[in-house]
Amino acid sequence: MKTCAIVKTHEVALKGRNRPWFMRRLADNLRRATQDAGVEEVWQGQMLVGLTLAEGVDWQLVKERVKDCFGVAKFFQAYRLPRDLDLVKEQLPFLLERHSYDSFRITANRADKRFPVRSDEINRDLGAFVKDLSGARVDLTNPDLEIFIDVLPKEILVYFDEVKAFGGLPVGSSGPVAVMLSGGIDSPVAAWNMMKRGCHAHFVHFHSYPLVDNSSMEKAAELAQMLTRFQYNSGLSLAPLAEIQKQIIVSTPPAYRIILYRRFMVRITEILARRIGAKAIVTGESCGQVSSQTLENIAAVDQVAGMPILRPLIGANKEEIINVAKDLGTFPVSIQPDQDCCTLFVPKHPVIRAEASMVAKLESALSVDELVQQAVENTQVKNFSFADMLTAAAG
Ligand code: ATP
Ligand code: MG
Repeated sequence: MKTCAIVKTHEVALKGRNRPWFMRRLADNLRRATQDAGVEEVWQGQMLVGLTLAEGVDWQLVKERVKDCFGVAKFFQAYRLPRDLDLVKEQLPFLLERHSYDSFRITANRADKRFPVRSDEINRDLGAFVKDLSGARVDLTNPDLEIFIDVLPKEILVYFDEVKAFGGLPVGSSGPVAVMLSGGIDSPVAAWNMMKRGCHAHFVHFHSYPLVDNSSMEKAAELAQMLTRFQYNSGLSLAPLAEIQKQIIVSTPPAYRIILYRRFMVRITEILARRIGAKAIVTGESCGQVSSQTLENIAAVDQVAGMPILRPLIGANKEEIINVAKDLGTFPVSIQPDQDCCTLFVPKHPVIRAEASMVAKLESALSVDELVQQAVENTQVKNFSFADMLTAAAG
């Protein structure tokens, strides 16, 4: 018998008149997410998206792919039957065979109100049937097995196990953002959080090559590639900071260098962001985590930004961030040692409360616009696609 995956949403369903648009976006993303997973067709119901699965499909693979698709709150593997309760009863013994349960409930939902039997009648009728068939008792609050019956305009869906996913909004529905991606633990998690809210992330990484080796670039590329499975294609801008750093160390006392680096990074990121239509910058900063992330220093960096800087991890503890990074699989990559540009020529204890007047004075010794322009011109872009990743994995 043909099965399908039935995908349900939370917030997407609540978007009022925009709902068809969100659902279309979700369906498009699911199509891309499952392109190699044996899905024959992706279709839209009123409050759900369905994926028709090929015969003998690998459900584990489908599950993995659907789970990573933002906007999906939960999903099931479902059986498609004709709109005839007698036929449902005929199939139920076979469908229930692989389940063991002492209690159950039927949860019927008549999405198509033209169907002559009401939901509560379906619940009672099929409940009695399954009770006779299995000897199990009905438990409405805490059943071992919940049997869902959805009556759609053209068919009846029967399904059992619910798989929880991340929820959120379909990637692309909230527009692009520029994510400042270091090789560290936090920024990939920050990117993931924004993707979960429907943003498409363009990654920007700053490196100090050739003052150091290219290990941070390689890490950033690996992280960008890993995160691509949530948004299907990604760009990574590799921006050079070495020349800027060389000039900063000549005129700036060590304690203030990191603040100046950050202000340059933000100026450059903003230009790159505008080029791709991004309306916000995202960082992995968390309040007070390190000395460069005090409120005063955050304010000193914000001053140079002409667009919002979003910091989705601002209130998160390190341990919480690490747990997400482990779930995403980025953690082992992030903790590999690299030569990071921010540790270059900075002391162990940088300034904790940067003073605006001091920062302005130090920057007046530099040709800021020219240095920024030069870095933008020398930025290289790498592209990643989910399809390429799959081809590479298969080959
Ligand atoms: P992460 O784990 O993301 O590196 P962190 O705790 O090490 O963060 P910092 O090194 O102070 O903190 O960096 C704060 C934020 O600044 C990062 O989360 C990232 O968004 C941005 N950032 C730092 N270094 C770079 C870099 N080389 N390229 C791009 N962005 C960077
Ligand atoms: Mg870091």
